[in-house]
Amino acid sequence: MFDALSRWRQRRVLSRAAIPDALWREAVALLPFLAIYADEDLARLRQKVVLFLDAKAIVGAGGHAVTALQRVIIAIQACVLVLELELAFYDGFENVIVYPGEFVPDWEWEDEAGVVHRNDGPLAGEAMPGGPVTLSWPDVAAGADWENTGMNLVIHEFAHKIDMRNGAANGCPPLPAGMSAQHWRTTLTVAYDAFCARVDAGEDTAIDPYAGENPAEFFAVLSEVFFAEPLLLRGEYPAVYAQFAAFYRQDPAARAPSRPPA
Ligand SMILES: [Zn+2]
Repeated sequence: MFDALSRWRQRRVLSRAAIPDALWREAVALLPFLAIYADEDLARLRQKVVLFLDAKAIVGAGGHAVTALQRVIIAIQACVLVLELELAFYDGFENVIVYPGEFVPDWEWEDEAGVVHRNDGPLAGEAMPGGPVTLSWPDVAAGADWENTGMNLVIHEFAHKIDMRNGAANGCPPLPAGMSAQHWRTTLTVAYDAFCARVDAGEDTAIDPYAGENPAEFFAVLSEVFFAEPLLLRGEYPAVYAQFAAFYRQDPAARAPSRPPA
């Protein structure tokens, strides 16, 4: 009954809230990493984006007015992560907040020793447990030029959201039946330790050294690489790539054209 009702709701949203073709094409053209997806994949992605935009408000803050194109660009990148998963991974929050630049969060947190911290540095993005995803628009826009920036802020923050579905972000999202949490943790820990050793040794890594911050950031940064430059992740950490491919149910490296040698 519930399933029938929710399917009916989805059909109603899809028929009412279509994205104009020109707007969709413009947004897709601005996201080069989508080039590996077939037309039928993009059609399913477009449906997810419509449902996502129906469920979430993407609102400006700090004087930023969110354009229709910006909303679609943000929603596409959020939905790429769950193209083969349930959109329910993003249940439990309603808002995506967009600032005109880096922002200073106004929350405080208390550590295990009872010391209260204020986050004093400006952030490009943030995913709050049970709360909104907050993004700096220029940092979202920078993701369109992965070759030069090596960052995809939207994928990063929504990877944290997926990680938080089973508690605090720790680099281990809720895995489907058939995947071993033990194997996931071992695989990611081995890769994380190896990556941190490379960063500590002063190596200029192709993957953003911020991945060495903690296991949650390792998962979020490597999720960016998985979607935006899958051959890099498969080449450097093939066991992690295999776990991500099983979890996200996508194999982007199999479809990515190899880059000509520089
Ligand atoms: Zn992060």
